[in-house]
Amino acid sequence: MTNPLIEKWDNEFEIPPFHKIKDVHFEEAFALAIEEARKNYANIYLNKNPPNFQNTIEQIEKAEELLDKVCRVFFNLTGTDSNIERQNIQLKIAPQLAQFSSEVLMNSRLWLRVKEIFNNRDDLDLSDEQHRIVYLYQQMFVRAGAELSQSKKRRYKTIMSELAILGTKFSQNLLADENSWQMELTIKDLDGLPNFLKDALAIASQAKSNHGYILTLNRALVVPFLQFSPNRHLRQKAYQAWASRGNNNNSNNNLEVITKILRLREERAKLLGYKSFSDFKLENQMAKSPENVESLLMSVWKPAVLKAKKDNHQLQNLLVEDGINDTLQPWDWRYYAEKRRANDYDINEVEIKSHFQLHKLIEAIFYCAKRLFNLDFEEISLKLHHEKAKCWKVTQNGEYLALFLGDYFTRDTKRSGAWCSSFKSQSKFNGNKRPIVLNVCNFDPPKEGNPCLLSFDEASTLFHEFGHALHVILSNVTYPSVSGTSVARDFVELPSQLFEHWLEVPEILEKFAINYETQKPISKKLIKKLLDSKNIDQGFSTVEYLASAIVDLNFHNASSPKDPLKLQKEILKGIDMPLAIEMRHSATQFAHIFAGDGYSSGYYSYMWSEVMDADAFKAFEETNNPFDRNVAESLLNCILSKGGSVAPEEAYINFRGKLPDVNALLQQRNLVDIN
Ligand SMILES: [Zn+2]
Repeated sequence: MTNPLIEKWDNEFEIPPFHKIKDVHFEEAFALAIEEARKNYANIYLNKNPPNFQNTIEQIEKAEELLDKVCRVFFNLTGTDSNIERQNIQLKIAPQLAQFSSEVLMNSRLWLRVKEIFNNRDDLDLSDEQHRIVYLYQQMFVRAGAELSQSKKRRYKTIMSELAILGTKFSQNLLADENSWQMELTIKDLDGLPNFLKDALAIASQAKSNHGYILTLNRALVVPFLQFSPNRHLRQKAYQAWASRGNNNNSNNNLEVITKILRLREERAKLLGYKSFSDFKLENQMAKSPENVESLLMSVWKPAVLKAKKDNHQLQNLLVEDGINDTLQPWDWRYYAEKRRANDYDINEVEIKSHFQLHKLIEAIFYCAKRLFNLDFEEISLKLHHEKAKCWKVTQNGEYLALFLGDYFTRDTKRSGAWCSSFKSQSKFNGNKRPIVLNVCNFDPPKEGNPCLLSFDEASTLFHEFGHALHVILSNVTYPSVSGTSVARDFVELPSQLFEHWLEVPEILEKFAINYETQKPISKKLIKKLLDSKNIDQGFSTVEYLASAIVDLNFHNASSPKDPLKLQKEILKGIDMPLAIEMRHSATQFAHIFAGDGYSSGYYSYMWSEVMDADAFKAFEETNNPFDRNVAESLLNCILSKGGSVAPEEAYINFRGKLPDVNALLQQRNLVDIN
């Protein structure tokens, strides 16, 4: 059998041959790719010549090329289009990959070569990027246990492969739990719901081969349902189902999984000599320590909770005005917040949404990329990972730069949320490799013949993920390990959150926020109302986000809990969490921190990056031109093109002269002067 995954992808863009790839190819491809990587590493550590950058570090950069290709195809498929077959392969392959990674990073002969280069790095004739890479490898080996004793190494390996299985299990449970719940709605239940939502509920029902209307646990359905349904009983039912994902009395319950994950993470950190997993995790981030993270989170928490409590009071009054003699509950908040917004600003979600058509907003992100970085996008037809995905060829001054893929619509086989990943990253040392980058969202597909309409938040998400994509597309480094988004976790959200600002530029709104019925651009009056009212519920969004970030930090910053949900409750009580607001992600559904290692003890990263994005956009505002070419060029040269080849603090200071303080963020969220 020939295996398309391991053949050379001899097509114009070196895109994976999706039409040939079948699930049955993966296990063999993984086995062959691991074997090939193993041989490549052996060639490095068995080399009789003394170690140098070229015969060691550069060879490491190349060693997993095939494995990397196979992994990217596989994990992009399991994320966007999972099935039982793929889930089973994933359960098998995740621990094997973890074991192989440990095998490499704990190989003493390999480590000794890297260490020698690291120790002599100042005497070698290295470029700045090479210098940085040597430092990063030294860190990576040490942090993966290269210096541990043999017995500790064995234990460490076991921990890592157990964690890989548990993380996979966590995601699979969550997806299964999300798909197992639905609520059929009668015509009467639709009272008070806007048409766009009724349409979406009908489409959700059709997707399950039913007639009528069905509410599922997709965020794009649940949130507007909670915003608009006047039926308190239904809101409660929907909210509770949504909030208890991963914590139901069934085989998908994640409590045991997360308890084990936290215990193993603690053990991992202690084996390496750290006080806690947070200490380990944060050491090589911009934040450096749990104390720094806590100090940022708490400095925003105080004004946010004050604002939320004031809002709570107002919304409580609206509840009473509705004749309900009860305290405001989490399933009430969005409904009354929407009412208040309509009252205070004479604005409503339906009016906003009718101006945000997905295809126009895609034009908008491309337009911004053209104005800022002179990028051109041309839609082309290629066989992709899924039939609903689209593809654009990205060029700059006629020169091919990248492929950009957009996979925007929700489906049962896709994991929830939105993200950016890639099939290929940029690098130069082993041939000019151009990236293939993918944006994934979970927008509701439109009714036949209608455009897909987004809420303002969803439009921000589109811009956000495209900001990540630009980081990948504009990467201009030599080595793949520091390409594009391969940066510290608390720096990676800077390009994405920064790009969200362009959605609020009036010129962009006037050009691209076009009412789908009248074809008229959004009025200046509506833009003003939209931007003025944007922060009205900031107390709520900041509190629900921060509560998750604080719980994440506390989960990892002390001894692992016997019962994480009990600890979660205590933490929330300790910070005086308002009763009518819950965490954005409760522990059993907190995929950011449990589906993998990515954001563990790292959910604060969004806020850390926001401190920077609030300040970074000021660089454009100071010129009175959101498309100022000089500032854009400096952003490109200092940050977007550099990937991880420069330390993040240094990259930011190169761009803005100094690191920002928290004030720009408080202003951005309208959380100043609250009393
Ligand atoms: Zn992001």
